[in-house]
Amino acid sequence: MNINADLHLHSKYSSGVSEKMDFKTLSVEGEKKGIDLLGTGDCLHPRWRRKIKDLDKERESIFSKRGMRFILTGELETKDRVHHLLIFPSLSKVEELYERLSRFSSNIDSDGRPRVELYGEELALMAKETGCLFGPTHAFTPYTGIYGNHDSLSSAYGKYSKDIHFLELGLSADSTYADKISELHDIVYLSNSDAHSPFPHRLAREFNTLCLYELSFEGIDKLFQDKKGKVVRNVGLPPEEGKYNESACRDCYSHFSFEGAVARDWRCSCGGTIKKGVKDRVEELSDTKKIPEDTPPYLHLIPLQEIIAKAVGHSSPTTKKVDEIWQDLIDLIGNEVEVLCDSPIEEIERIAGEDIADLVCDFRKGDVDILPGGGGEYGSILLEKENEAEGSQSCLRDF
Ligand SMILES: [Zn+2]
Ligand SMILES: [Zn+2]
Repeated sequence: MNINADLHLHSKYSSGVSEKMDFKTLSVEGEKKGIDLLGTGDCLHPRWRRKIKDLDKERESIFSKRGMRFILTGELETKDRVHHLLIFPSLSKVEELYERLSRFSSNIDSDGRPRVELYGEELALMAKETGCLFGPTHAFTPYTGIYGNHDSLSSAYGKYSKDIHFLELGLSADSTYADKISELHDIVYLSNSDAHSPFPHRLAREFNTLCLYELSFEGIDKLFQDKKGKVVRNVGLPPEEGKYNESACRDCYSHFSFEGAVARDWRCSCGGTIKKGVKDRVEELSDTKKIPEDTPPYLHLIPLQEIIAKAVGHSSPTTKKVDEIWQDLIDLIGNEVEVLCDSPIEEIERIAGEDIADLVCDFRKGDVDILPGGGGEYGSILLEKENEAEGSQSCLRDF
C-alpha cells in the first residue's frame, strides 16, 4: 500500500511550538492535507506520552484518532548539538529509553525535544539496543544538522554510522544535494515537515509517499531494509525556499558566493556573521558525480496556501481570503495532496481561478523561479512579471 507520511513534528510540549499542537487538531489538519500517517513527535515527554495513551491503539507502535494514524517518534539533541529522530516499536520501549536517557538529560521532562549529554555514537547504541529506527534530522542545516557539525556520518556516529536507518533532508536540501555525498548513497532519504504548528502551510509541508506491506513499525522497518526502492517519492519545498539555502548574512540577509564569504572571513559589511548555506556546505562535502539509480523522485511543492497567497498577491498565507479559497479547494477536491499533485488543472481553475491553477501547474512541471533563502530568511517564489523586474538582480548579491 502507498501512504503519505510526515514523520517529524513537535507537540505543544516542545519549546517554540504552537499550543494548538494537540492530537485532535493534528488529526483534523492531517486529513485535510492528505496525510495517512503522522509521527507523534515528542513521545519521550511524559505529559505528551499520557496523551498518546489516550489515543486508540491499533498496534504496538500505531495509534489513531478520528482516522488519523500516528507512529511513535521523538527528536533529541546530542552534546554536539546534532538533532536525531527516533521511531519506536512500542510505548514500553519509549519508557525504557526514557529511563535510560533521564540520567543524561536535565530537560527531558520539560522539553519535548530534550537535549542529552551524550554523543551521537552513544545515542545510536542506545537506540539500537532499544530496537528503534534512527537517523539525523534536517541533516544539512548549519546549526543542528549532522553536516553542519561533522564532515561525515562516522564523525557523528562512530562505529554505528552503518546502523542508521535514514537521513532527513531538511527544508533547504533535496535528494540531489544528498546524492553528491557518496556515503549517503545507500541510505533512505526522508522529507518531513518538522512542523511547530498545525497550520496547513506548516504541517506536512514536506512528506514522503511510502510503499509499505503494512502500516506498522515493522512495515517501516522493512522499508528501510529494502533501501530506497520502497520510497515512492519525496515531496517538499524546492531547496531554494529553505532559509539556509545560500550563504547569507544573519542580520541583513545579504547573500554571498562561497568564495566571496571566505574572502571576507564570513563577515558581512553590516558587521553581521555570514552563515554558510546548505548549498555551499554540500559542495564542500561533495565527493562524487555518480548519481545512484535508485534515488526516488523528489517532487518540489510548496504549501497550497502559499501558492494561493502568491497568486492573489497577499504577502501572508494566513489571510481570510487565502483561507477561504484554500477551504473551497479542499472541500471540493478532497485534500491538499490531491490539489497539488493529482487533480485536473481545469478543476482547480473552475474552483479557484486561472492564476492559482497556472501556478499549481507550474509547480507540477518544476517551472518556477525562486529567489533563494539564506541567513535564516526563507526564499520566495518569483512570478513571471516579478522575475522580469528582478532581472539583473542575481541570486548572489555580493557587495
Ligand atoms: Zn530538529
Ligand atoms: Zn549583513
